[in-house]
Amino acid sequence: MLFTHEYITNRIIRIKDISLTAMYLVIGDHTTALLDTGIGIGNVREYIRNEIGKEVDLLILTHGHLDHASGAILFKDIPVYLNELDRDLMNRHVFDILSHVTYTEDMYRRLNMVCPEYSQADILEGYDSCHTLPLEDGDAFDLGGITLEAIHTPGHTQGMTMILFKEERIILFGDACGVGVLLVEDCCSTVEVYRNTLIHVKSYEGEYDRIIRNHGTCESPLSLLQNVIDVCADILNGTDDHIPSSAPIATDYPVFMAKETLPGTQTRVDGKEGNIIYAANKIR
Ligand SMILES: [Zn+2]
Repeated sequence: MLFTHEYITNRIIRIKDISLTAMYLVIGDHTTALLDTGIGIGNVREYIRNEIGKEVDLLILTHGHLDHASGAILFKDIPVYLNELDRDLMNRHVFDILSHVTYTEDMYRRLNMVCPEYSQADILEGYDSCHTLPLEDGDAFDLGGITLEAIHTPGHTQGMTMILFKEERIILFGDACGVGVLLVEDCCSTVEVYRNTLIHVKSYEGEYDRIIRNHGTCESPLSLLQNVIDVCADILNGTDDHIPSSAPIATDYPVFMAKETLPGTQTRVDGKEGNIIYAANKIR
C-alpha cells in the first residue's frame, strides 16, 4: 500500500505516503481541503476517493519542496494555493523529481526518508507546470464548521506557510518549525530572519493547543516554538553546540547542527524538543 491514513480529529485525517511525509485532509461541512500532496509516488487523489470516500475541492501547499508538492499535478482542475515566493522552487523540484532527475535512492538517503519497494509505474506522469493561486499571510478558507488560516513563515523556504485550524485549535507547523529545521539551501532564510518569523508565530500562541507537523512523529509539545526561538538566539550569539553535520541537501558551505542529539536520533541530549540544521552562510 502506497498510502496510510488515520483520523487525528473528526475533521482532520493524516495521510502518509511511502516517503512517510504526511499530508492532511480537512473535512468541512461543504468543502474538503487537502494540505500538501506527498512526493509524487502513487495517486493520492484516488486513495482519498476510494479509501476515505471524499473528493478534494481545494489544495493548499505549505511550501514548494518536492516531498510536499509533487502530487499537485493530480489536482490541476481544482484551486491550488501556494505562496508565490515558492512557485519557482516548486516547479523546479516537481519537474526534477517527476522527470527522474532527482529520483534516486541516494536522494532518499540524503533526505533520511524511508523508501519501501515501489514500482516505476507508481511515479506520477504528465508534468508540465502547476498553476497555483497566491497564498498570503492571513488568508482564510471557510470549509464549513472549520476555518483554515494561512500564516506566512519564511525560513525553511521563502514561501513557507503554517496553517491554523481555527475551530479545532490545532496548528500545522509543517517544515517551518520542528525537531530539525533545515536552513541550508539557497531558498532558506537566515537564522536572523527565521527568528523574526517565529516571534510572529508567537502572537498566535493563544489560538492553538496542539502542534502537528509533516515528518517524523508529526506531533510536538507546545514548548517547541519557544525552544526553537531559543536555539536561534544561541546560534546568533555563537553559543549553540555548533556540531558539524552532513547536509541532507547539497550546499557549498559547512553545515552545523545547533543542538547535540543522541546518536542516530533527533532527540536532543538536554531533553528539549526543537533543533536547527544550518549552513554557515545562513546565520545573518
Ligand atoms: Zn521542506
